[in-house]
Amino acid sequence: MDLKQYIADIKDFPKSGIIFRDVTPILDDPACMMQVVESLSRFVMESKATKIIAPEARGFFFGIPVAMNCKIGFAPVRKPGKLPRKTISQSYQLEYGEDSLEIHEDAILPGEKVVIIDDLLATGGTVEAMIQMVERMQASVVGVACVIELDDLKGRDRFHEIPFFSLVHYQ
Ligand code: IMP
Repeated sequence: MDLKQYIADIKDFPKSGIIFRDVTPILDDPACMMQVVESLSRFVMESKATKIIAPEARGFFFGIPVAMNCKIGFAPVRKPGKLPRKTISQSYQLEYGEDSLEIHEDAILPGEKVVIIDDLLATGGTVEAMIQMVERMQASVVGVACVIELDDLKGRDRFHEIPFFSLVHYQ
């Protein structure tokens, strides 16, 4: 199966000059989705993870089915102010300015082995912030898996000591 056939390339979204890689056609095809979930699950099982975390919203598309398939828990990572209970917050740099992510403070227990899942790795800033968050919770990130990797941005250089897996590459 050529996974790129299930990724729509949207020119000039969300702003001029950007090609947005849209994974929603994968979700619309159960056989394709099953194959993606199985591939990501193999990586998660090899890493012996005890929990998966993923950032809103596209990380949830893959993080939740993979966690169910691997029979381990899932915890959502969200933009500020969205989670109802006490959270831990981690800020990170964007090209212009700063953003932050939150997770429930009891979502990851000390000593847990966490895999981070997302739809796409670009600069690696989002993943790096989640790694810092997990380490502040006295747990460790044993793997990072994304459906798409944008090779030229070299996001994985930011966490080269952690095993990384991606299914499809674009420049
Ligand atoms: P990074 O922090 O620069 O690695 O950006 C990755 C984050 O931005 C991920 O959470 C992605 O969901 C999102 N993102 C950036 N570009 C795209 C895209 O082309 N398609 C889908 N998501 C994207």
